[in-house]
Amino acid sequence: MQKGKLEIICGSMFSGKTEELIRRVKRARFAKQKVIVFKPSIDTRFNKDKIVSHDSSTIDCVVINKPIEMVTLAAKYDVIGIDEIQFFDDSIIDCCNTLIQKGKRIIGAGLDMDYEGNPFGPTPKLLAIADEVSKVRAICTKCGKSANFSHRIVAGESQVMLGEKNEYQPRCRNCFIK
Ligand SMILES: [Zn+2]
Repeated sequence: MQKGKLEIICGSMFSGKTEELIRRVKRARFAKQKVIVFKPSIDTRFNKDKIVSHDSSTIDCVVINKPIEMVTLAAKYDVIGIDEIQFFDDSIIDCCNTLIQKGKRIIGAGLDMDYEGNPFGPTPKLLAIADEVSKVRAICTKCGKSANFSHRIVAGESQVMLGEKNEYQPRCRNCFIK
């Protein structure tokens, strides 16, 4: 049996990760492939069973608590999209490997770094095992250069703080350090 593959789309907040995930999912559907999309239950922004990008395109998704749920739910699908990969635990690595062995194409999107610039959740490990990595960039809100850091503009030291434009701004490396 043909093995599958893992594609990861990563970057900061507002870098267009979800837009790119939605674009690839829609292309796979045009190609008549069976696609299922998952997101973690922690991400309750926007709509519960939809993935909504900042440019307001949407796709339906299945909300799960643990990566293992994907292995059974995705059994009859060809392509598996996963948004907000950084919020899952490290068991997502084994689950992705299992699905790849079963011939599935997995497209994962998520933050590569947290608001302090540290690797976020399982994303760095998924990057390591991925067949293809796309690092997408936002625009720095201070200087207009390309940005790959998520600067938190409100107080709070928890790594996980869901937020939008009132909470986070994309910054380049120079403006992030300042
Ligand atoms: Zn800058």
